[in-house]
Amino acid sequence: MKSFAIKVFGCQMNSYDGDRIRTSMIHMGWKEVPEENADAVILVTCSIRDKAEQKVASEIGRYDLRYRKTGSPAVALVGCMAQRIGLTISKKFRCVRLVSGPRHLGLVPQGIEDSFSDGAQRFFMDDDPRALEDLEVVPTERTNPFKAYVTITYGCDRFCTYCIVPYVRGRLQSRSHTEIIKEAETLAASGVTEITLLGQNVDAYGKDKKGEYGFASLLKDVSMIEGIRRLRFATSHPKDFDEDILEVMAGTPSICRAINLPVQSGSDRILKEMNRGYTRSQYIELVKRIRSVLPDVSLTTDLIVGFPQEAEEDFRDSYGLLKELRFDIIHTAAYSPREGTKAAIMEGQIDNKVKAARLNEINALQSQLARELNEEYVGRKVEILFDGPAPRGEGSLQGRTKTDKVVIVKGGPEYMGRYMDVKIIRASHWSLEGEII
Ligand code: SF4
Repeated sequence: MKSFAIKVFGCQMNSYDGDRIRTSMIHMGWKEVPEENADAVILVTCSIRDKAEQKVASEIGRYDLRYRKTGSPAVALVGCMAQRIGLTISKKFRCVRLVSGPRHLGLVPQGIEDSFSDGAQRFFMDDDPRALEDLEVVPTERTNPFKAYVTITYGCDRFCTYCIVPYVRGRLQSRSHTEIIKEAETLAASGVTEITLLGQNVDAYGKDKKGEYGFASLLKDVSMIEGIRRLRFATSHPKDFDEDILEVMAGTPSICRAINLPVQSGSDRILKEMNRGYTRSQYIELVKRIRSVLPDVSLTTDLIVGFPQEAEEDFRDSYGLLKELRFDIIHTAAYSPREGTKAAIMEGQIDNKVKAARLNEINALQSQLARELNEEYVGRKVEILFDGPAPRGEGSLQGRTKTDKVVIVKGGPEYMGRYMDVKIIRASHWSLEGEII
């Protein structure tokens, strides 16, 4: 029996792709084993930052040394980095036997099998940003039996000037809603109780088809599937998040009160340079509107510091916005130029030391805000879904609230996959501690 290992880097969409490839490989008769014993290693890669790519490149270097000595493992490089620089990498490293962009995953499992039999390299590149050869398989072979991702859109049409996504994942393409619902029903029937709908911009769902059936309709339909107790989605775009979505959320308790609404900057000047399509005050209005309709919502955001031309006063605008809006979590990043994007060739690139100092300042502010917000939970009763071992400490499990707060609770494996009420007894900036009631 041929064996494979799979390693996923980057976002939740890559985890979903990784689970689908795993499922297909197992259906084709391959066995999943630890990477040191695998005949083939599949790398599902990310291009969002330079660091993510460097990590994969060093892994490939390691596999290549072994491949040259023993003839294995063969490496299949798939996803965003594969699309961006996979061809160059395949010339340098002999172990790379297959390269596929994220829109050709449907060809990957058979491609690995074929390349294994005839020894020839395979290249499935996304040269047409609208073409799609998807992998039509429900990801039943997952690491987590209770929670699952379902991708609802591919690519993005927004072209934010710093972002590589439209170039490596192609243009926006919404999956058919009947397919998505069928997949969610199959997952629910297999024991999944929490589904996260995924897309680079889920709120744009259906906009490429110009139909009436948009993201709000999809949310409603998936939430009605029997067995789905929690429905999440990521990521939203402030320009596309509309009243219809808010209305469906307000009327559907199973849709989790957790929204990731990336702001990226608090400065109007930088938002314009980023081509985000909204102003600071429009963003603030939207947050206020969401909080007025969903008072128990937890809001998270993404923020880039050190975007080209970001002056001290632009940075202060971002800092002030975070202080004013008090997000539960902020995913921060120092701007990392991605070749091929507009921002990478803009004048006024910011010195790395300045970026690092700004990042530190934002992170210190957020630690304090997150701790204050988490402390409000102490003494409250919340329902959590136990979904994995606690990152530190034996005899403890990790669960999540509907608002996506991580709660650490003493307990054994018998609680895994169960929903239970816990009382919050302590809070830190990144998690809560609870006791089963
Ligand atoms: S909306 Fe998101 S995925 Fe699309 S271009 Fe902008 S940052 Fe990239």
